[in-house]
Amino acid sequence: MPVSTVDAPTAQLTNQDRCDRCSAQAYVRATIAGSDLLFCGHHFRAHEAGLTAAGAAIVDERHRIGE
Ligand SMILES: [Zn+2]
Repeated sequence: MPVSTVDAPTAQLTNQDRCDRCSAQAYVRATIAGSDLLFCGHHFRAHEAGLTAAGAAIVDERHRIGE
């Protein structure tokens, strides 16, 4: 399987990663000011605009929901 070296996430989220807001499985990591925030799909949608506006680096693995 080819692996892109461009914009590759440094660490894939696992089923041990939990949303900071509700403890559901996390599918999105947002890094801002050196801190990692983890979100489930629901809570990422709720905070996406603010995170993007704040310049957060987003690792979006929501395509894995349901796997
Ligand atoms: Zn959540």
